[in-house]
Amino acid sequence: MEITNRQQTKSSFAKIDFDPKLQQNRLVALKDFKKGSVICHFSYAEILSNPNRYTVQTGEDKHIILSPLYLEYVNHSCNPNSFFDTNDFKFKCIQEIQRGEEFTFFYPSTEWDMEESFDCQCMSPQCLGEIKGARYLSEDIIRKYRFTDYIQGKLKKAHKHVFEL
Ligand SMILES: [Zn+2]
Repeated sequence: MEITNRQQTKSSFAKIDFDPKLQQNRLVALKDFKKGSVICHFSYAEILSNPNRYTVQTGEDKHIILSPLYLEYVNHSCNPNSFFDTNDFKFKCIQEIQRGEEFTFFYPSTEWDMEESFDCQCMSPQCLGEIKGARYLSEDIIRKYRFTDYIQGKLKKAHKHVFEL
């Protein structure tokens, strides 16, 4: 099922490894990153009209397969250290990352309504439990996270007063 070149692991700053505890692959930093720095630029290998567990949403009915492909091993956390900015196509560090640490992002920061929800096991004290997409987040949660401009626009429509504060 997996295409061979999906296994591409060549990167100067990251490597894919297997997390035995959660039984899944992850992307781990090979160097330190400062908060606010750009980890890398990204692009897309393909644009799909429907989401799947590997895609990142960039617009209405637009879901990209990330390039470089190893970026799809960036897992979700409710206390994320990185962010896929689909405006300038930069993968950004939003919390100090140390060499050996796993890159994580907040799935609802790019996903409005996820194809498959899942029960988060990120173990962070602020873990939200079931993750389904930005449209299901409560207003106090929305205030705590950074979202792409696309998702932010949809949240603004859905929760007008949150953004007027
Ligand atoms: Zn969590």
